[in-house]
Amino acid sequence: LTFEEFGLKRELLMGIFEMGYEVPSPIQEKAIPHALNPDQRDVVARAKNGTGKTAAYLIPVLQKIDTKDQSIGQPQALIVVPTRELALQTSAICMALGKHLGVQSMVTTGGTNLQQDIMTLGQTVHVIVATPGRIADLLMNDYRKGYGMYGQPILRMDKCKILVLDEADKLLSQDFAEHADLLMDKLPKDKQVLMFSATFPVSIKSFLTKLNNYEVINLM
Ligand code: AMP
Repeated sequence: LTFEEFGLKRELLMGIFEMGYEVPSPIQEKAIPHALNPDQRDVVARAKNGTGKTAAYLIPVLQKIDTKDQSIGQPQALIVVPTRELALQTSAICMALGKHLGVQSMVTTGGTNLQQDIMTLGQTVHVIVATPGRIADLLMNDYRKGYGMYGQPILRMDKCKILVLDEADKLLSQDFAEHADLLMDKLPKDKQVLMFSATFPVSIKSFLTKLNNYEVINLM
């Protein structure tokens, strides 16, 4: 299988080849067609680090972003990862793969200035890469007073069509467990969830009950 066979946008293929990726890795070969399938089923993949799982979700995310939509503070995809370092790495790969697409992404994590994130949300943002506590903060609290133009919320999730949970076993053992319901509620009902996890503990199994008719990919 080749990357061309996924029917990707030309600008996205350019980004993929510039990264030096020649052919899809096994997880990419399985996950990308499922994620891009018009049936929009959720994807639950069992994959370790080092298998190419980051591009396995970033490629479908980037393919689905409508970059002509320049609306302010209304991401089309939310990627949740367990640590700030991973968020920065993921965002860097997202920008490299999306270089020719004009995709705007931002990182929002704990341990950084919240006001700065609120300022960034006053611009176009297509993809948000976040840690669980900070995204919950932004979604839960009302930051409108004094910040939102014309009084609209800082962060609106009604255009967010994809939710990625990376290292979901780690997410669910941390803050994310308590924020999972909030996140699932604040995003549109018809969103697609792409979940990657190295292990499948009970916490993951109970979270899976919130997904619809998901496809399981197991490469381990
Ligand atoms: P990950 O599992 O996402 O941490 O990726 C592990 C490493 O594989 C990273 O350095 C990626 O840049 C690289 N990689 C991802 N997909 C491919 C591919 N299709 N061909 C070659 N290298 C890749």
